[in-house]
Amino acid sequence: MKKALITGLTGQDGSYLAELLLEQGYQVFGLVRRSSSGNADRISHLSGTVEILSGDLLDQCSLMDAVSYAQPDEIYNLASQSYVPLSWTQPALTAEYTALGVSRLLESIRRCKSDARFYQASSSEVFGQPDESPQTERTAFRPRNPYGVAKAYAHWMTINYRQQYGLYSCCGVTYTHESPRRGTEFVFRKITRGAALIKMGLAKELKLGNLDAKRDWCYAKDAVRAMWMMLQQEQPDDYIIASGETHSVRELVQTAFDCVGLNWEEYVSVDPNFYRPDEAVQLVGSIDKIRRQLNWEPQYPFKQLVELMVDHDLKELSEAQ
Ligand code: GDP
Repeated sequence: MKKALITGLTGQDGSYLAELLLEQGYQVFGLVRRSSSGNADRISHLSGTVEILSGDLLDQCSLMDAVSYAQPDEIYNLASQSYVPLSWTQPALTAEYTALGVSRLLESIRRCKSDARFYQASSSEVFGQPDESPQTERTAFRPRNPYGVAKAYAHWMTINYRQQYGLYSCCGVTYTHESPRRGTEFVFRKITRGAALIKMGLAKELKLGNLDAKRDWCYAKDAVRAMWMMLQQEQPDDYIIASGETHSVRELVQTAFDCVGLNWEEYVSVDPNFYRPDEAVQLVGSIDKIRRQLNWEPQYPFKQLVELMVDHDLKELSEAQ
C-alpha cells in the first residue's frame, strides 16, 4: 500500500486530493495545524480514513517528525498563506509559511525520507505581469505581490533540491480552480450560488463588480488529478495546470443563469464596491506540455463546470429548506 502525506488537508485541494488517493488505495496522512482543528468542514467526511498529524510549516521539528513517522512515498504541499490581500498586510508571515515553509519541508524530506516524491503547489501568481500570454513552463516570473514572491521562492527551491540533491520534487503551477467547496466570496461560486438563490425565490438580485474581468477557471478535481499524475512519472518535472481558456465574468454569469432558465440582465447589477483597484493582467496557462507528456485534459471544461456548480447549489439549497 502506497503512503501519502498531504499538507493543507483542510483546504479545497487537500480534501479532494485525499479522496482521490483513498480511491487509489493509498494510506493517507494529513498534516494539520493545531489552530485549524476548528476548520475541518471539508474533511469531516474523511474522519477515520485519513490519519491526522499535528504540525506546522513554521516548525521544522514537527515536519521532520511527520515525515519520519509517516514514511510517505509521496508528499503534497498544498498548505500556504494564500490570501493575496493578507500577504500585503502580513508579508513576513506569508514568507514564513509560503516560502520558508517549503524550505523546511524540503529539508525534512532530504533528511528523513529522501526517496519520497514531492509535489509543490506553485501558483500562476508567480507570473504577475507576464511578458507573454498564454504562459508556459518557460515564461519568466514577475510576481506582483508578496504571495507571488513567496511562491516564486518556493518554486525555485523545489527545483534546486531536485538539481542539487536528486530529490523527486516537482512544481505544478495552478491557475484559479473552483468547486462546490469554494467560498462564496470568490466570484465563480458567488455567481452559481446567486443564480440558484434567485431561481428558488430566496434572493432578488446579484451584485457584482467588473463583468469584463477574465480568468482561466479549472475544476479543483481536475487539478488534483494532475498533481497525482505528476508524481507517477519516471522523471520529475514541472507543469502548468490550467484550463487553457479564459472566460469573462459576463460569460460566467450568462452561462449560470442560462442553466436555471433566467435572463441574467434582469437580476444582475454592477456594484463598484466589488471592483479591484488594479486588474490589468489576464492570466491564462498553456496546457500543451501537460497534455502532451501526461495526457492530462480537464474533464470539466467551462460550461460543464458551471452546470455542475449550479446543480450542486440548487440541490444544497433545496435540501436546506
Ligand atoms: P481571484 O481574484 O482569482 O482570487 O478570484 P475571484 O473569484 O475573487 O475574482 C475573479 C475575478 O472576478 C476578479 O477579476 C474580480 O474583479 C472579478 N469580479 C467581478 N465581480 C466580482 C465579485 O462580485 N466578487 C469577486 N470576488 N470578484 C468579482
